[in-house]
Amino acid sequence: MNEQITPAVLNTAKHLTVGGVDTLALAQQYQTPLYVYDTGAIRTEIAAFKQVFEANQVHYQISYASKAFATVAMYQLAAQAGIHCDVVSGGELYTAKQADFPMAKLSFHGNNKSIEELTMALDYGVGCIMVDNFYELQLLAQLTAEREQLTTIMLRIAPGISAHTHEYISTGQADSKFGFDLTSGQADTAVKQAQAAPYLDLVGIHCHIGSQIFEVDGFKLIVDKLVALFARWQTELNFYPKIMNVGGGFGVKYTSADQPLLPTEFVDAIIKETIAQTQAHAVPMLEIWIEPGRSLVATAGMTLYTLGATKEIPGIRKYLAVDGGMGDNIRPALYEAKYEAVLAKNPTLPSDEVVSIAGKYCESGDMLIWNQQLPATQPGDILAVLDTGAYGYSMASNYNRNPRPAVVFCEDGHSQLVVQRETYADLVRLDVPLVTKVNN
Ligand code: PLP
Repeated sequence: MNEQITPAVLNTAKHLTVGGVDTLALAQQYQTPLYVYDTGAIRTEIAAFKQVFEANQVHYQISYASKAFATVAMYQLAAQAGIHCDVVSGGELYTAKQADFPMAKLSFHGNNKSIEELTMALDYGVGCIMVDNFYELQLLAQLTAEREQLTTIMLRIAPGISAHTHEYISTGQADSKFGFDLTSGQADTAVKQAQAAPYLDLVGIHCHIGSQIFEVDGFKLIVDKLVALFARWQTELNFYPKIMNVGGGFGVKYTSADQPLLPTEFVDAIIKETIAQTQAHAVPMLEIWIEPGRSLVATAGMTLYTLGATKEIPGIRKYLAVDGGMGDNIRPALYEAKYEAVLAKNPTLPSDEVVSIAGKYCESGDMLIWNQQLPATQPGDILAVLDTGAYGYSMASNYNRNPRPAVVFCEDGHSQLVVQRETYADLVRLDVPLVTKVNN
């Protein structure tokens, strides 16, 4: 049985619930495929991160990396929780603005922000721009000078450390499209240029070392490297960064094979290392920023599908097809991400067979799950694919001209639609019919 199916997520009818709401009722009310979130679980994750900072009595900021799941309602939830958010495009920025998210609590990331996007950020009064490269630094220096608008920035650096799950490698030369390179001296030059720009207020340094990280070592290495760098910059450049932003990437449990640390364990290690290193290098204690994305929303979300066609190849495999697939969750096809599924009407039923869950898109690669144990199913049954809350909806597409699913928030036994299901009319809304021959 799936480890996450505890008695707490079952109701008296033994149906799977989310935020105290019966998933079968959700499927009936809002149809499938459907993204559903337990918003109480998101609040709990945020509170856990906050608690460890508070317990250590350090200055901090939690900035939700909204690329993981960005909707008006999610920005509202983040605002209610009092945290910051990162955006990476004019579209995310616009969505946050529509949600009345406090602009002073937004950070704007991206390796190729356009002049229009930077202007929009300045118009909106975005709290911090994470400057990624020299082109952007010069552009922003010019724009802020023209507007005489003092603007807070951090510089994103490529620290030469990258981490992914259990592996982390330390490389002399960071080969990444993001950030100022450390080893070649680009980061030093960027600091000097920022210092020389009269309307740029350089408050800190940012880096992000990877995703789905399961070990604290990569983060500790980052802290060691950054604090040593800051010590050198104090003497050589007279630059005292106030903020050290170590990014996101805290690993989550997608399947029983994943054994992530608690978010709080990561943060505790980062704080302790920062205290030790700043003392060792005689650098003032830093304000620590983190940017959790998936760790706030992944396990709070699931996708409900209706089962349809079955194909059994004797002795080889049984395929169960659902009414969604790579259009609502590209992660398995894109990077072989693994998920687990349960039968919503009775997730505790003993599993009879091993099946593979196929999507409905015209691609052989459109497989959501290979080799999932499930009890006997029938067409029309509701399948819940668990832990799809991060990079599911936000990476959804209209491939094959399938409408994107609705999103529903659930909490304390109540549900609320927060993104409507797309209609066929929505799919052609931006299409412009060919009136006559193009060259006429
Ligand atoms: N911060 C930055 C700069 C990122 O690029 C990302 C993701 O790519 C994140 C934070 C969030 O990462 P995750 O969702 O793995 O926590």
